[in-house]
Amino acid sequence: MVKSTFVFFTGLIISLSVYANDSTLLTAQEISLDKKLSNLKNELLAKASQNKLSIYSSSFTQLRPFIESSELYKLFQSMPKGGVLHLHNGGMANPKWLINAAAKYNNCYIYIGKDNSNYIYGQLVVFAKGPAPKDFLSLQQYLKFDKNAAGSLLKLLTLNRSDLTDYMDTWVEFEKRFKRVGMLVAYRPFFKEYYREAFNELVKDQVQHVEIRYGFGKLFDEKNGNYPADTAIADLKQLVAEIQNTQPAFTLKLIYSSFKFLDTTAVSEKLKAAFELKKKYPELITGFDLVADEATNHTVGYYNPVWNSIGALEKQYGITMPLYLHAGESSSTSNTNLAEVPFQYNKRIGHGLNLVYFPDIMQRVKTADNLVEVSPISNQELNYVSDLRNHPARVLLANGVACSINSDDPGVYGYDGLSYDFWVAFMAWDLDVARLKKLITNSIVYSSLSEEEKKTALTHLSKAWNKFVDSEYL
Ligand SMILES: [Zn+2]
Repeated sequence: MVKSTFVFFTGLIISLSVYANDSTLLTAQEISLDKKLSNLKNELLAKASQNKLSIYSSSFTQLRPFIESSELYKLFQSMPKGGVLHLHNGGMANPKWLINAAAKYNNCYIYIGKDNSNYIYGQLVVFAKGPAPKDFLSLQQYLKFDKNAAGSLLKLLTLNRSDLTDYMDTWVEFEKRFKRVGMLVAYRPFFKEYYREAFNELVKDQVQHVEIRYGFGKLFDEKNGNYPADTAIADLKQLVAEIQNTQPAFTLKLIYSSFKFLDTTAVSEKLKAAFELKKKYPELITGFDLVADEATNHTVGYYNPVWNSIGALEKQYGITMPLYLHAGESSSTSNTNLAEVPFQYNKRIGHGLNLVYFPDIMQRVKTADNLVEVSPISNQELNYVSDLRNHPARVLLANGVACSINSDDPGVYGYDGLSYDFWVAFMAWDLDVARLKKLITNSIVYSSLSEEEKKTALTHLSKAWNKFVDSEYL
């Protein structure tokens, strides 16, 4: 088992039990860091109380200035975080950057008409050929219109929980944010800028490995109205090589993603396409997943005919197709997705919030050695958890379920990087240095990197971690 190979970290054997609280396993510098973190947390709790700020249940937008002004946030920004294992391709880059970058294109337009089956209000589109249709305004013109225009657009591109009313469907609003930028990111020149920015934001935040739930959609420019998936892959590989010039440890993997609203026939086709691409690009494509709101779309079990075909396809193509399924991201008492996960193929679970209600399945997750990808800010912003102290991850960690910290769709929540998620998790859960280290190490150990790549990545992480701990000790 690979997990037992990598118990060495910072030159010492660390405990594999997340809640084993043996400080003798930490170095003197780490024990000192632990005290510092604890003090910073207590200071922040006192300050929040003075300011009458609820740090556990405020919306991210309300809490953000408090986070950014804290020494704890600065410390987490410099902390090596290993990998981010749960990110979606439509919600990666900082939206403020996105608006500024889009505004540089003369052919970028914003839709200001009524929502219809093609376009929704605030949608950004590049028209590579010919004039823009009716009800589109040049983005440059729109932004010059008045000084609040950029702020209004930012609101349309981001989801702010405190702006949502009870009668609004959070997922409908959430998905509008993806639609508003989808056609812009599909424009190849912007596509390259978008991923370069997203990777750089993560590298700057000390994230060395990135895994994206990647939906292969349209890619176009003036020369070609619809490039094949190979072009997107070639562009992404080129960008990774560019980042590696200065950050040799940077790695990227794509988990081919389709949608839970498609029927089994359509998803079977997508699975075959995933096999084709993984066979061709095994260094980049590492698995398969289905995304979309669990409450309104097909269940995991509905796709049993698809899962049942994996074995034969693996034989046919001579490769494996691990699953990284979203499951249990729901408030419904009748959601059975976790019980339907085909654990013979599944490696990690996206969110798994409902797992705490099913002790037997939690045990199955542990037996199958699946990791649960936890995204604290996303879970709160989408209204699955109102007070982060009650986040199910605390129960999972207490039961020894492997977890890692993720940001899911930071661009849609108006931020970038992973430090904010570590900040809220550290403040709301009973984490200490040993537990932070475990979460961070998990993000490489349970990644879809090859065994060789994991060794290299863990060596880099270990060095970066020691450097970080030493710098905090001075
Ligand atoms: Zn997700």
